[in-house]
Amino acid sequence: MENVVRIAIQKSGRLQEGSLQLLKESGLSISNGKDQLKAHVRNFPVEILFLRDDDIPQYVEDKVADVGIVGENVFIEKGKKNTLIKRLDFAKCRLCLAIPRSEAYTGLQWFQNKNIATSYPTIVSQFLKKNNIVAGIHEISGSVEIAPGIGLADGICDIVSTGSTLLSNGLKEVETVLYSEAVMIATPELAQEKQNLLNKLLFRIEAVQKAKNNKYILLNCPNDAIEKITTVIPGMNSPTILPLKKEGWSSLHSVVDENDFWQKIDQLKSFGAQGILVIPIEKMIE
Ligand code: ATP
Ligand code: ZN
Repeated sequence: MENVVRIAIQKSGRLQEGSLQLLKESGLSISNGKDQLKAHVRNFPVEILFLRDDDIPQYVEDKVADVGIVGENVFIEKGKKNTLIKRLDFAKCRLCLAIPRSEAYTGLQWFQNKNIATSYPTIVSQFLKKNNIVAGIHEISGSVEIAPGIGLADGICDIVSTGSTLLSNGLKEVETVLYSEAVMIATPELAQEKQNLLNKLLFRIEAVQKAKNNKYILLNCPNDAIEKITTVIPGMNSPTILPLKKEGWSSLHSVVDENDFWQKIDQLKSFGAQGILVIPIEKMIE
């Protein structure tokens, strides 16, 4: 078997840019290829296939591709024999139930014996079953949000990001059925050589993800504040301390988690930190 990992990504659409960016940041040198079916990678044994996102789970199950990047919504809906191997932290969206704004929503019971239009019949029927609701499901592949307006269904289940599409179709969101993000899926039976290559790629992806969630921070502080400041930003091992020319002062370098960054900045200032610089990190390996 040839020793190349085939990765299927969306040919065009909301997942394409994020997928390509992730692979590029992982150091893969991808020869353009947007208009082709395949792209070669010069510096890593990977081949990229550009496909419709809906087809990717099937191609992975059939081992035409070894790995795929799809929305979790598509992964779950298709129900193929694939494994979710990594959450990728982009293309975040929700799958929601929505009904006409003029309706008074009384809770999930509202949907009892109603008709729901959706492109996600499997996910919706699982959700309804779990909640003991019996409703008709009308599968349509696009423009789901117009269904109530033309009398095709009472409500819909569709992807919502800002809610403006719902609004302009006179609908309101009433329940969240699923939170989704881009995920990497793989066939559960990958040959050992391919698995080894994939592990190398996953290691790189993790380094990129960690780097995105962290910032490099430099600050000046009086020497007697170093201990306190270290407890706030302990870094990967411990901070680097360099003496300033000014007597009794140091420059302290560390790493800080993006999420509690602003809260920590206030603490650092209160401990006497000055001249704080925060710099993006490109890759991070612990
Ligand atoms: P294709 O032509 O490949 O079938 P598509 O029209 O089915 O494309 P897109 O609209 O490009 O699909 O969406 C692809 C995936 O991106 C969705 O399955 C979902 O996981 C995610 N997604 C959809 N809408 C949004 C959004 N508004 N914000 C973030 N992610 C989204
Ligand atoms: Zn699609």
